[in-house]
Order: sequence, then C-alpha cells, then structure tokens
Amino acid sequence: MKIRIPFLDLAPMHRELSKSLGFKFSELLQKGIFSGGEEVDIFESKMSNLLKSPFAISCANGSDAIELALRVLGIGMGDEVLVPALTWVSTAESVVLTGAKPVFVDVDENGLIDLDLLQGLDSPRIKAVIPVHLYGKMVKMPILKQLAELKRWWVIEDAAQAFGASMDGQPAGGFGEMGCFSFYPTKNLGALGEAGMVTTYRKDLADKLLHLRNHGQAQRDHHEIVGRNSRIDTLQAAFLNVKLDHFKAWQEKRKDLAKDYLYGLKDVPGIKLPQGILDVSHNAHIFQIQTENRDRIQKHLFKFGIGTAIHYPKTVPSTPAFGKLQGYPVAERLADTSLSLPLHPYMRQDDIAYISQVLTSYLNKVGGI
Ligand SMILES: *Cc1c(COP(=O)(O)O)cnc(C)c1O
Repeated sequence: MKIRIPFLDLAPMHRELSKSLGFKFSELLQKGIFSGGEEVDIFESKMSNLLKSPFAISCANGSDAIELALRVLGIGMGDEVLVPALTWVSTAESVVLTGAKPVFVDVDENGLIDLDLLQGLDSPRIKAVIPVHLYGKMVKMPILKQLAELKRWWVIEDAAQAFGASMDGQPAGGFGEMGCFSFYPTKNLGALGEAGMVTTYRKDLADKLLHLRNHGQAQRDHHEIVGRNSRIDTLQAAFLNVKLDHFKAWQEKRKDLAKDYLYGLKDVPGIKLPQGILDVSHNAHIFQIQTENRDRIQKHLFKFGIGTAIHYPKTVPSTPAFGKLQGYPVAERLADTSLSLPLHPYMRQDDIAYISQVLTSYLNKVGGI
C-alpha cells in the first residue's frame, strides 16, 4: 500500500473522541442551550486557571480576539501598531479593522518580531506592539515587556499558535496587557468550528471586553457602548471542554514526535531545524525547517505521499491587501525557504521515521542544494 501522510489529519482525533463529543452534542440539544450557559463558564474558568490569568474571556474566533483587545485599549484612527512582517494575516488585519495603521517590523531567524529593530522605533503615534508567538515559539517576552514599558506601548500577545507554551513559569498570553487565542480546528487545541479567547490581568479591561463582545451591554438592553456580537458558541465551548482533558497528553506526544524529527534529521545537509522546539517556551505547533531548496523538496516529499505546508509563502506587507510592500529581508527569505512538516499527536513514530528517511536520502543525493 502506498504510504500517505497528509500535513494534518484531524480525523483520528475525532474518531477517538466521537463518543464524548457526541454525548455533549446530544446533551446540549436536549437542554436547548446554544449561547452562553454553563459550558461557556466552565471553559472560561478552566482556561483562566491554565493560563494563570484572572480574566479569560471567550469570543467567536482568534481574529476577533485581537481586534477586541485593540479596541479595549482604545486603539483606533490615527494610531499605529507594530506587527511582525511574517504572521497569519489576522494580526495585521485586526489592526486595520480598528482604523489604526499596522507598521510592519522585520522578524528574526526564527520568524519572531525582531526585538533589536523594535528598539530603534520611536513615534508618538505608536500605541501598541503585537508580538506573535509564531509556530508556537514564544517571543522573549520579559525583554519585550521591558522595552514596551520604556516606550509606553501596550503589549497585545498574539498567542493564537502558542497555547500550552510558557516562559519563566508564565503561560503565553500572560505577559502583555492582553493575550489573544484561537481555537481554530488546526491549532493545538482546536474546536469543531470557530472559537477564540482574550485574557487580561486587568479588571477594567476585562469589563470593557465583556461589553464589547456582547453589544455593549452588561445587562440585557443596557447598551453602554457600541459593541458587537463576538460570543463563542456553547457547543464549541463544550467540545473544547472535552478536548482540554486530553491536551496535556497531546502536547507530550507532539514533543516526543518533534524529538524524533530532530534525531532523524540531525545529519541532513542543507536544512535548518527549528530552534527550541523541545523547550517549554515552544508548544511544537509547527515543525518548520528552512532550506534554500524548499520548492523542490516539497515536490519530492509530495511524490512520496508526504503532505507539507508553508507558513507563510508571502510576507503580510507584500500582499496586495497591504500594498505590496517589500523591505523586510528576513521575513521575505523565510517566506521563500520555510517548509512545515507534518506534526500532530495522532501521527505515529513510524511516520516521522519515514519522513525523515525520505528527506535524508533526497538531500544526501542532491548534496543539500
Ligand atoms: C490562527 C491565527 C489567528 C486567527 O485566529 P482565527 O481563529 O482563525 O481567527 C491569528 N493569529 C495567528 C498567528 C494565527 O495563527
């Protein structure tokens, strides 16, 4: 039988959980609760504990989480917000949706916002910085926090890819004024649809967030400010509660598989392996390698039944939506050279061994070029 390893296959996870997920679904169907309710409260309090954040407020998706966080901090027209040039588009999009302007900053070799470049930026218009923990690898938050305090910038963490990672005992999302999470199905903790969350340690910001998320009302029909609807579905909160019980085991499996990759690929010429993927400050969301030979390697792996992905093939500023801007050399190089290999907790060690072997023999043959 021909081996086929897709980049991501969510089916085995959901097969295994189908009973408990199905049970939740029929329970809520009978109760008729589809918005708010106990499951949402439970989800928020579980997350508040896990994230060591006094306030963990669910919302409709991760993109909304970032936009809501910006609005809570009063960011809008005339303001500038620093965002990395390499990220999922939401980070920059959310800034534009508030009326503010994203100012792109190049990234470092790991794809994270370049802290040295941030140091050189000064403008009264800059109100906030959004560090993105890309691939699940955390930005050096203590350093960034110190810098942001000096510059008087708010810090909004885009932790959409980093749930489960922590630094100095503090989970991702807990360093900035606000932390933003996504539970899009492909994330390490994924809903069976869309969901997101904003965390904060400040009660005043949490209160405003609750208003903004729910039509500006704390109480029905008392609209204090103009808000919107960005509530989580009860079903999604319930499914996430089921999945949270397995999260720790999944993370351990991810780390074990990542370790197998590092071992299997250690002598391969011409590729750079991900830095720090076994550290607690990395949740192994994406196993990203860098190679000058990316497109050929991707085709070769495909021929051998191995699916891969590129995060991301274009920098955000270079897209038509953001004005086709160049001038972010590191981000542009990563867009041309990075390749994400399959990594998820329902893969087998044999899969990793097979992928490593296919890559090794190919690169040894072509000499790393
Ligand atoms: C997934 C993701 C988001 C957006 O989350 P959605 O739930 O898909 O809206 C934002 N930023 C990053 C870095 C992401 O990976």
